[in-house]
Amino acid sequence: MSELSKQVQDVLKLYPDLSAKDTNNGYLISGRFILNSEFSEIPLYDEYFIEMNVSLKFPTVIPTVREVSGNIPEDFEHIYENKELCLGVSCDLYDFLACRPSIIDFLNGPVTSFFYTASYFKRYKTVPYGERSHGIEGIIEAYLERYQLSDIMQLITLLAYVAGIYKYRGHILCPCNSGKKFRNCHGQIVLQDLTSSRNERFKKDAIDIIGYYFNKKGER
Ligand SMILES: [Zn+2]
Repeated sequence: MSELSKQVQDVLKLYPDLSAKDTNNGYLISGRFILNSEFSEIPLYDEYFIEMNVSLKFPTVIPTVREVSGNIPEDFEHIYENKELCLGVSCDLYDFLACRPSIIDFLNGPVTSFFYTASYFKRYKTVPYGERSHGIEGIIEAYLERYQLSDIMQLITLLAYVAGIYKYRGHILCPCNSGKKFRNCHGQIVLQDLTSSRNERFKKDAIDIIGYYFNKKGER
């Protein structure tokens, strides 16, 4: 039995209301998903019906999830046009799966916090914890956090290295103005992203952010 099909079997044991079937490129896991969790002493219980596609390339490819019973309020905006749930910014989800490449952890982590947020929103018309803006602004927030920066221009300069616009040189001063050499400062994470197996993903985010930033500047 492959590692992935073993993982799917484990999911079915833990979530007996879910079932799985083979698709051409992975598994479709579907059925009732019970939310029963608590945050800041507010316990919430709710029922959703999910369809989750897990690629054979999991965890390199992030699973996609839809809710099919219509239990998510219409004005809850974290759903893509194709009805997939916005479970978080892709670089956060990649980091999560890199540390914990498990479907169960994915369900207990990002999927559960999504539904907790949706149920909380349904009841209180607000969200329970600080969360990222939707779309590109959210991606920018995630990268500012990831690079531990608050200055967007410094982020843009660093991302220009990730995007391949600037060529990496370790001995120059770091663009974050720390006064350290690049290789002893942000050069480390830039190099990590450049050599990561998910480099294409980081590169695309970098190009999207740079493009968005300069378009927005042009509008002013
Ligand atoms: Zn730096």
